[in-house]
Amino acid sequence: MTGNDKKVMIIGGGLAGVEAAYQLSKRGINVELYEMRPVKTTDVHSSSFLGEMVCSNSLGATQLSTGAGLLKEELKMLDSFFLRIAEANRVPAGSSFSVDRLHLAENITEEIEKLPNVRVIREEITDIPTVDYPVIIATGPLTSGRFAENLSILTLRKHLFFYDATSPIINAESIDYEKIFRASRYDKGEADFINIPMSEEQYNEFVQDLLNSEKVELHEADKDVFFDACLPIEEIARRGEMSLAFGPLKPVGLVDPGTGKMPFAVVQLRQDDLKKNFFQMVGFQTRLKWGEQKRIFRKLPGLENAEFERFGRIHRNTYINAPLILNKFYQCKLNENIYFAGQICGVEGYVESVCSGLIAGIFTALRILGEPSYNLPENTACGSLVNYICQADWKDFRPTKFTFGLLPESNEPKSKRIKKKLKKEHKAGIALESLEKWIKKINI
Ligand SMILES: Cc1cc2nc3c(=O)[nH]c(=O)nc-3n(C[C@H](O)[C@H](O)[C@H](O)COP(=O)(O)OP(=O)(O)OC[C@H]3O[C@@H](n4cnc5c(N)ncnc54)[C@H](O)[C@@H]3O)c2cc1C
Repeated sequence: MTGNDKKVMIIGGGLAGVEAAYQLSKRGINVELYEMRPVKTTDVHSSSFLGEMVCSNSLGATQLSTGAGLLKEELKMLDSFFLRIAEANRVPAGSSFSVDRLHLAENITEEIEKLPNVRVIREEITDIPTVDYPVIIATGPLTSGRFAENLSILTLRKHLFFYDATSPIINAESIDYEKIFRASRYDKGEADFINIPMSEEQYNEFVQDLLNSEKVELHEADKDVFFDACLPIEEIARRGEMSLAFGPLKPVGLVDPGTGKMPFAVVQLRQDDLKKNFFQMVGFQTRLKWGEQKRIFRKLPGLENAEFERFGRIHRNTYINAPLILNKFYQCKLNENIYFAGQICGVEGYVESVCSGLIAGIFTALRILGEPSYNLPENTACGSLVNYICQADWKDFRPTKFTFGLLPESNEPKSKRIKKKLKKEHKAGIALESLEKWIKKINI
């Protein structure tokens, strides 16, 4: 690499960090990408690869009428590195975009290491760098402890913590296939999911088991701080005896070929790797103790001898109070050399993390190249997401996924009663048109 005039330091080689590195590299900017693994690891990463998806292998739905679908379409238009490699690592999963996580991460690492102007340095950063060129902080929800402590210097007030949970993964060979059936909801896809049908009696017993189970304790200050989008299964059960049947165990769109009827409830398992060796329990994030997971989940039909490749877990999630700290370019208001990207900046989810890394990378490049930074249009998924994180109410700030609710209302007359799906497709069309214009305008 040559001098410092066109150079950026990125801290964290996760989903956001690798995307930002690629966006800078392709615009001729040198990158030093610091990743602490394998020198120091996190509680949930299982490899030393860059860009590892730590839990579910799903990047969400693909239809343009869904938040995940629109966001991914925009990222494709913006030449997302992560999505391109993900496409080559897809596994069958109905209408959702799922991947072989570790193979994907291995490919990402190879591709990043091949880039001539990106240097990957395996080292933990513990202090806020005082360099005179831009730094993108993308250390993720599991930012190492010492660095997180030092971040409070930048974050004006104590940075925030809360807890999230992950789902168990089961070894495919240990499932009893006589008791389950394969199907995708509403027959979308090619019978990609394993479905465990439950009778009302089995369901009620399962709920009681969850309620009476032993859980990993949280610190007092951390209680009641789960995201609604990622609630542990036992927490959902606690909120009402039918909550699971209307939530992750909902049977709609599924018919048990054994009975010809819709079961009372269904536990779904989704393929986790290309070789079909592992299946993940869908929506089963949990903080049950591991022995309890084994005891209770093995009561489910077909899982009597299940071998758990990974148990569900509880984990820390670190993020900054973005509305106080960031502007619309993912840049610190008080230190223009510091940018944040990924989950730590207040977005939530794989695709959103990639998105923020991509956009932070582009804005950093624009600044270095002396080009004007035009705001992202508010009516795009990427633009509405950054708007949310820098304009939300800081007193009650929580990381967010992209949903259509973040987009401004379109000019459709209120009286015109169009179906929700059509309305979303209409907004998606506007978003893609606006983004195309923005891409032409920034012209790099
Ligand atoms: C347990 C868990 C489960 C999740 N499950 C899902 C899910 O199922 N679906 C979903 O959409 N989202 C999920 N998320 C949320 C989020 O989408 C992912 O965490 C995503 O990987 C965030 O991307 P990122 O780039 O911000 O962070 P990461 O991908 O975690 O990357 C951050 C990188 O920074 C490195 N690092 C940390 N501190 C330092 C340091 N001081 N110096 C150098 N390197 C450092 C880490 O090793 C890591 O590689 C989950 C998060 C967690 C923690």
